[in-house]
Amino acid sequence: SVKDMGRNGFSFYDESMNLDVQRNFALNVRLHQAIQQGDIEIYYQPILDLSSRKIVAAEALMRWTDSELGFVSPEDFIPLAEKNGLIHRLGDIVLLEACTQAAAWQAISPVKIAINFSSVQFRYCEQLQSRIVDVLLQTGLPASQLDMEVTESLLIDQGHALMKMLSYLKQLGVGLSIDDFGTGYSALSYLQRFSFTKLKIDRAFINNMTTCSSDASLVSAILAMAKSLKLKVVAEGIENEQQALFLQQRSCEYGQGYLFSRPVPAAEFTRLLLREQHSIGLVEKVEQAS
Ligand code: C2E
Ligand code: MG
Ligand code: MG
Ligand code: MG
Repeated sequence: SVKDMGRNGFSFYDESMNLDVQRNFALNVRLHQAIQQGDIEIYYQPILDLSSRKIVAAEALMRWTDSELGFVSPEDFIPLAEKNGLIHRLGDIVLLEACTQAAAWQAISPVKIAINFSSVQFRYCEQLQSRIVDVLLQTGLPASQLDMEVTESLLIDQGHALMKMLSYLKQLGVGLSIDDFGTGYSALSYLQRFSFTKLKIDRAFINNMTTCSSDASLVSAILAMAKSLKLKVVAEGIENEQQALFLQQRSCEYGQGYLFSRPVPAAEFTRLLLREQHSIGLVEKVEQAS
């Protein structure tokens, strides 16, 4: 077991070795194995149009359940993978699988697929760009159906190669969303320079918005700013109807959160799409009949 490995296999470390380092080392080994064995799963969380309450997109989210460690949150293993370089392989797994899945969903509904990209993946811009283009060709997913989610940390050292890549993908029709907006680097000028298509308000603000007036003001201000920059907004972490209504009243286009659905396996997401198509079909029949 991992504990045994800590006692025996890793005994060449002296005892003062920081527990975090030991834990990370064990996690590293397990993560490497999980990738090799195909144990990394992709779940999908619906993103809805807040006024029609129809699914317009799916966000792909990585899931890893280790046989010994149990569920490991991406909040724990993504930062680790960014340090040890495994993020490139993880990123490729999610890119290929999520685009393949989204291409199949196009037959049911024109949903977009939102994929998270770590800033570390952009260190090899040219490779990443050609891989994205290859995957789009290989899966047949139209470029317009892919949204790349990046965080503000990407924008800190924005080199020429990065700008070139992003403008190339934009020309193809790929969308670019700024994720966790409001939590990071806060120079707003980058919003225009990078020509984002969407802005995702971090769930920390959505959480307290209906109970805390300063968060409410912040959300309203973000929505107004986004509108003037012609950015569409996705609110993350909507957990109750009150929050959904608050956002709808302020013309927030899209929402995502446990109120609508938790992240689910692909087959379950397919059922959500089919159920929606079915209920649209029923409404049309009722309308035709009346
Ligand atoms: P994120 O991209 O901001 O994803 C949204 C997170 O909010 C997800 O957490 C989702 O499960 C959670 N969430 C959605 N609605 C609600 C809600 O109503 N309430 C609450 N409490 N949470 C909600 P998750 O899946 O644990 O992922 C955490 C983070 O890990 C993601 O944040 C993203 O930064 C990273 N991540 C996940 N998958 C990938 C991936 O494939 N690649 C990369 N680079 N990062 C990923
Ligand atoms: Mg995201
Ligand atoms: Mg987010
Ligand atoms: Mg996040």
